[in-house]
Amino acid sequence: MTMTKKPKTTWGGFSLKPRKEMPEGLWTKCPACEHMLYRSAVEKNLNVCPTCSYHFRIGAPTRIEYLADDGTFQPLLDDLTSGDPLDFQFRGTTYKERILADEKKSGAKEAIQIGKAFIKGRGVVLGVMEPNFLMGSMGAVVGEKFCAAVDKALEESLPLVVVSCSGGARMHEGVVSLGQMAKTAAALARLDDAKGLFISVLTDPTTGGVTASFAMLGDVIMAEPGALIGFAGPRTIAETIKVELPDGFQTAEFMLEHGFIDMIVARKDLRSEIARIIDYCRK
Ligand SMILES: [Zn+2]
Repeated sequence: MTMTKKPKTTWGGFSLKPRKEMPEGLWTKCPACEHMLYRSAVEKNLNVCPTCSYHFRIGAPTRIEYLADDGTFQPLLDDLTSGDPLDFQFRGTTYKERILADEKKSGAKEAIQIGKAFIKGRGVVLGVMEPNFLMGSMGAVVGEKFCAAVDKALEESLPLVVVSCSGGARMHEGVVSLGQMAKTAAALARLDDAKGLFISVLTDPTTGGVTASFAMLGDVIMAEPGALIGFAGPRTIAETIKVELPDGFQTAEFMLEHGFIDMIVARKDLRSEIARIIDYCRK
């Protein structure tokens, strides 16, 4: 007779039943607190971690849904697409192929959406950057659409609200992309001359040429909690100037403490805070 040992089913009060397979996409891990979160609970919470309030990165359509009054967003220049001025290739992929791949991935034709909308009943021109399209980078189309948004704001005397989320200038377009920094800054100077209002909302991440141009030129600059805001990345800075960077360097909280931004606003409060600033500036 052979004795087979029965496998243990409990240990110290815990069940040792084999775990059921987790359905793909039902759960997500918070990068900040590392809790496993039920994805739909995170989505219901405006893509903010219910445990630690980490603000997840979101695409432009979701951002517009969260910010604009229902069904009021009317897109402008939606079909504008990038040329390829340098015939650019990187590691065997052409710029044109990259654009097509990111169009498919994000459903967007470029890294910014602009349009007219209402926020809590206040008419605005709204621009929202798309992190899933070449990391929200600024090339000729982003610059052109940003300036068109400024023109619309001037033409209709509307406040301009732009939500930045960007890896910076788009190197695939070389100096053409860098030129957009001056172009967008010049457009904002015109808006300023006409006493227009520009509310700049910085989200994670806002970096490079976008930080060094329009994102930091807001009459009011708000940021979402914990957003990375900077020009060069922390590792590049640390290696270049050979110093140890302080804790929390380049976070929204650090930027507020050092006077670079005006306020930190949680995602759930953005609509009411933008409406409040618009009303305050109209008085
Ligand atoms: Zn968390």
